Amino acid sequence: VKFEDLNLSPELLKGLYIQMNFEKPSKIQSISLQMILTPPFKNLIAQAHNGSGKTTCFVLGMLSRVDPKLIAPQALCICPTRELAIQNMEVLLKMGKYTGITSELALPTDNKKDYISVSKRAPVIAQVIIGTPGTINKWIKAKKLGTSQMKILVFDEADHMLAESGFREDSVRAMKEIVKECPNCQVLLFSATFNDKVKDFISNNIKVIFKEEY
Ligand code: AMP
Repeated sequence: VKFEDLNLSPELLKGLYIQMNFEKPSKIQSISLQMILTPPFKNLIAQAHNGSGKTTCFVLGMLSRVDPKLIAPQALCICPTRELAIQNMEVLLKMGKYTGITSELALPTDNKKDYISVSKRAPVIAQVIIGTPGTINKWIKAKKLGTSQMKILVFDEADHMLAESGFREDSVRAMKEIVKECPNCQVLLFSATFNDKVKDFISNNIKVIFKEEY
């Protein structure tokens, strides 16, 4: 498989070759990109470790689904930490450099009054939003982030967000609420491991019609 075979826009091909210096898709990219990028835009659950090239899969998915002419949030990427969100944003900006697609980070602030101020701020008009579950859910609840035009919802490192430890309960609840707010979205979920928490979250919240394993 070549990147040219994947129906990518000329702007994205330019981003891949000139900005990223990629020559051809990695294994996970050749297997999943066709499915991610072509109708009927099926949901994808993928076991992927760091270094496999998963970021490219969902960044291309998000950038391909966004209609650049529509000024509204259309793609959402949920990450376990600020650091990962920022890292993913850096890749998105680089790969999407020639697309003109806009993006914004949704990260917690240390400001305790944030919940009050959040609803006063103007609604987000960026096309791709990357952030952590609690903040994204808070923005949705406060009507700062509209979901009516949302087309694709990505969970990166889902196992980290669904880890056993108690303080993750809020993230888990936020993730479930976000999925509910985006009923017509294509969902891409990436996880390094599939423990019971991850399996439960998938079976209770994400529609998987059939399973193919590679
Ligand atoms: P990831 O697993 O997405 O964090 O990617 C791991 C590393 O592989 C990153 O440094 C990427 O820039 C690089 N990478 C991803 N896809 C490709 C590709 N198709 N060709 C060359 N390098 C790649």
